[in-house]
Amino acid sequence: MKNTETQDSTHAELEAIKHSLLLQKSEILNKNFEFKEQQSSLSKNSDEADAVSQELESNLSIQLHERDRHSLVLIDKALSKFATNSYGECEGCGDMIDVRRLKARPLATLCISCMEEQESPTRNLIQ
Ligand SMILES: [Zn+2]
Repeated sequence: MKNTETQDSTHAELEAIKHSLLLQKSEILNKNFEFKEQQSSLSKNSDEADAVSQELESNLSIQLHERDRHSLVLIDKALSKFATNSYGECEGCGDMIDVRRLKARPLATLCISCMEEQESPTRNLIQ
């Protein structure tokens, strides 16, 4: 009985994570839509005095856009795991990642011990 209860609450927590991922995804998509709108209004009001600051701003926007695109890929990857019921499985050892860790880092693909083993330069992008 206890096991079933634990599984049910974990399932509910995973559903909550899935919901927040879907929300994040739509936020990014909405933001990027606004970003495009902003870019088109910028080109309409182009003024030589503002050119430099506009360039800085748009560089910042593009960086944000790149980061968002990266996040979208990771979110989609996580969501596709929900579809196959493999979300939360560690890609290193195949064990379930602690749900508390998943709540804090929904895009984590490794459990804490595998993460500590795999010190890599790209780690900070994912974690
Ligand atoms: Zn692991």
